Formats: sequence, C-alpha cells, structure tokens
Amino acid sequence: MGNIDLHTHSTGSDGTDTPEELIKKAKYMGLSAIAITDHDTFAGVEEALAAGEKYDIEVIKGAELSASESGAKFHILGYFFNESGTELSEYFEMKNKFRRERVKKICEKLNDVGINLKYKDVVPEGENISPGRANVAKALVDKNYVSNVSEAFNKYLIKGAPAYVAGMKITPEEAIRLIRENGGKPYLAHLNQINLSDKELSEYLEVLKCKGLEGIEGYYSEYSINQSEKYIGYAQKLNLKISGGSDYHGEVKPAIFLGTGMGNLRIPYSVLEKIKN
Ligand code: AMP
Ligand code: FE
Ligand code: FE
Ligand code: ZN
Repeated sequence: MGNIDLHTHSTGSDGTDTPEELIKKAKYMGLSAIAITDHDTFAGVEEALAAGEKYDIEVIKGAELSASESGAKFHILGYFFNESGTELSEYFEMKNKFRRERVKKICEKLNDVGINLKYKDVVPEGENISPGRANVAKALVDKNYVSNVSEAFNKYLIKGAPAYVAGMKITPEEAIRLIRENGGKPYLAHLNQINLSDKELSEYLEVLKCKGLEGIEGYYSEYSINQSEKYIGYAQKLNLKISGGSDYHGEVKPAIFLGTGMGNLRIPYSVLEKIKN
C-alpha cells in the first residue's frame, strides 16, 4: 500500500485544484488514499469520489469545520461522513451564506483602501464554493495587487489588517457533535496553530475527548519533528488516535505538496487502518 494524505483542499473551498485534479495528482504521487477536507462544505466530494473510481484511489468523504472557544481557534476534521443529515447540510448552507457575505464585506473594506476587487473576482458567478480569505488572497495576486498569498494575508486579511472581517464560528463541542451525528470521525487539525499554551492544549484535549473527539493530527506539513512527537505523546496519554495530512491547497500554499507536505511528510496506510477500526 502507498502512502496517504488525510487533509486536502480543492476548488470546493479555498484550494486551486479541482477535485479531479487533486485525485490525478494523488495517483501521480503514488498515494493510495486521500481524504478531501474542504472548509465547511462537501462541494468537491462527489467529483472526488468519481475520480477516485477512475484512478483507483481510495477517497474519503471529509470536511474541515472551523470552531472557536474563548478566543482560541480550532479546526476539526471529519472523516467518513455517510449521507449527510439535514442538520449538517443546513449548517453548511448557513455557513456558506455567511462566508459569501463575509467576502463581500472584505471586498468593500479593500475598496475603501483603494483596491478595486469585486465579489465576482473572488467567487465567479454560478460557482458552488465555500469561499474564505485564501480565495480573496488568490484574487489579489491574480490582479497584481500583491505578489503572493502570504503578502495578501499580512497586508490586508489578518486580524488587525485593514480588510479583516471575523469569521463565524461554532464551538469545538458543537463541531464534534455535528460530525459524529453524520457518521463522521472527528480529529483535531494542526495543533501547532492553536493559540493555547502546551499545558492548556493538553488539558483541553481531555475535555474534547469527553465530547467525542476521536483523535488528533499527529503528522502535518508544518510540524517540526519535536512537535509531531509532542502531539503524538499527548494522544497516547489520552488514548486518542492519530491522523495525518499535508493541508494541500495547490497554488494558495505553493510550498506544500500533496502527500509529502514540505518534503519530509510520509503517512503510511496503517494510519488510516487504525482510524477505520
Ligand atoms: P478563513 O476560513 O476564511 O478565515 O481562512 C482561513 C484559511 O485561510 C486557513 O484555513 C488557510 O487555508 C488559509 N490561510 C490562513 N493564513 C494563510 C496564509 N498566510 N497563507 C495561505 N493561506 C492561509
Ligand atoms: Fe484553507
Ligand atoms: Fe485548517
Ligand atoms: Zn485545511
């Protein structure tokens, strides 16, 4: 069995590869399984599943839900959703509307500082996507207002910058419940990005486990070896499982490759086998 990647984004949210391109790339990279985990949507799942059949890649129906509590931000991945129940569909629909309104507000704020960016430059008409700040960043690059996505975030889109608009977030507990009630297995993503101290994080993991969290991302593009060992240590202590992925977004995060992350990431199929059991 080849290696796997359980954290990927497509044009269903803020990635730049279509779901089919993502699967083709997985084939090219010699991967055997991929989870498609777009932000707050299943928009890319159907096409990814069909491409998985075509290219003989195991495709896992996933999503990444944004959550926050007391100022700390959490991204929760769900894997193996079954037919989504109405509550999750309604949540995604509501969240999607909010994300679109937010992009409109960001564009207005950009207009106020002299940047001519329109909503349709970010979300082309008729496209069924769940847009975020990365889509705005990509449009700013395309229109030559900045030279890359990082510059777009730092200059305009991060908290404190002139075009920042806060996102709408549910609590991690609510995200875990929504995932589980729709057959999904919840895993906490990129622990290095959570604005908590190590002590707070390890204590909070225990709380989340009680709420139904099944595991954490133990392998991730941007973890150092020490971070990976530390988080896997937390998981072992609490009897949480381990997942792993690159957080591939295509051109929006050009330094991150599918499957191999920043070059050293290798996630064996056995990780997925443990998640399934
Ligand atoms: P949003 O959900 O709209 O608040 O955007 C958050 C998403 O933007 C993250 O999940 C990343 O995919 C992306 N993102 C955040 N910061 C950066 C950055 N500096 N460069 C590229 N993408 C970023
Ligand atoms: Fe993203
Ligand atoms: Fe994330
Ligand atoms: Zn992600």
